[in-house]
Amino acid sequence: MQTLTIYNSLTNKKEIFKPLKEGYVGMYVCGPTVYSNVHLGNVRTFMSFDMIYRYFLHLGYKVRYVRNITDAGHLTDDSDEDKISTKARLEKLEPMEIVQRYTVDFHQILQKFNLIPPSIEPTATGHIVEQIEAIKTILENGLAYEVNGSVYFDVLKYNETENYGILSKRKIEDAIENTRVLEGQSDKKNPQDFALWKKAEPKHIQRWDSPWGIGFPGWHLECTVMSTKYLGEQFDIHGGGMDLKFPHHECEIAQSQACNHVAPVKYWMHGNMLTMNGKKMSKSTGNNILPNEIFTGDNKNISKAYTASVVRFFMMQAHYRSILDFSDDAILASEKGYNRLMEAVNLINNLKPSSSSSIDIKKWKQQCYDAMNDDFNTPILIANLFEGVKFINLINDGKESLTIEDLNKFKTTIDTFVYDVLGLENNADGADNSNKLGGVVEILLQLRKEARENKDWALSDRIRDELIALGIQLKDGKEGTTFSVG
Ligand SMILES: [Zn+2]
Repeated sequence: MQTLTIYNSLTNKKEIFKPLKEGYVGMYVCGPTVYSNVHLGNVRTFMSFDMIYRYFLHLGYKVRYVRNITDAGHLTDDSDEDKISTKARLEKLEPMEIVQRYTVDFHQILQKFNLIPPSIEPTATGHIVEQIEAIKTILENGLAYEVNGSVYFDVLKYNETENYGILSKRKIEDAIENTRVLEGQSDKKNPQDFALWKKAEPKHIQRWDSPWGIGFPGWHLECTVMSTKYLGEQFDIHGGGMDLKFPHHECEIAQSQACNHVAPVKYWMHGNMLTMNGKKMSKSTGNNILPNEIFTGDNKNISKAYTASVVRFFMMQAHYRSILDFSDDAILASEKGYNRLMEAVNLINNLKPSSSSSIDIKKWKQQCYDAMNDDFNTPILIANLFEGVKFINLINDGKESLTIEDLNKFKTTIDTFVYDVLGLENNADGADNSNKLGGVVEILLQLRKEARENKDWALSDRIRDELIALGIQLKDGKEGTTFSVG
């Protein structure tokens, strides 16, 4: 087994990965709140963890990958209504209609980007019972209190014996100073306390009965109960976007400690954000793009459409912990790189073996693994794959050579990293086929022209009609006949 190092956000250093149970990995990643279309920054986070999931699978681990759907309880800072209920109220729809619409969108988009579905995709609304049980336990352990039908986690009390700030490295004193006291939060003993259960106001649509009255769960709690339920009180990896580190993940640690008296997660991993044209993405300024707009090219920030595979390649060219900036120039450059890589991958099957090898394939292969073993360093891996592209072209030109064994090893390694680990798809094939189709139509147009010159109108019309039947439109003009595929 390869020695893998992971940057642990809890210790802020790279550590050798040792699973809690030999050969098994338990991984939890915070999923989307399904109240709007998934944005490209979120796609990047989920794609990073997809690559990580894929690499563990490739290394032979049995992975249980849990990624939740938040379909209740995601409160915004200054409101006592969660995001889904707000959207449902504004659009006059059932909350579950909102949830369904955006869950479907989420799945369709991730499928286009070739993400493997997680092993379990639990929902907050499907785990209300477990959340109520966890709140009871935290209350029994004296780390929460009830006020007017809501239950809050007592952060100060918790911090007397534990460390609230262990992950975010925030000092609780600073948190107290910086926390604004917001309207509607006056029930709390201290402003940094967070809701485990919120009383539902009459207008609040999503509501459940509980020992504390009608209400709904606080957002942080669902991840604690679902990760515990499916991965155990302690598990290997918890991931999410950098923006979730505080307060969401800090609260998860506190809740788990308060319930189970153990640190829940061995390795915390956080993906960095995606900016656009050097600035934060924002709907209001127009510095924003939806995944579907990339596929159609229908957005002022790009000059043309790009395939999902090109976008995936673009994202994999950056390390998951680095900020990545999306721009038309950057993605155009990635498209060129992607095409160059895929052309070489297509060429590899034509390479002829020799009686000796002039390239050290074993060393090159280990360099690919070394890159991934160093905290999933995909940009270094891709640089190595381009070293492989160079080899392919040199072998094809007869300037370097590989034995049949080395050639097979080379092919397998390229396939493993390009398809299985990076999750790229080879669309270069599709482009190649459409070029061939174009060539075939040109031949038929030439035959039709000759038929017309010979006044063989029957044959000329037959060629035209059969092409139309296939959805290929012909247009006769002064310069000859052109066609378009409808
Ligand atoms: Zn979460």
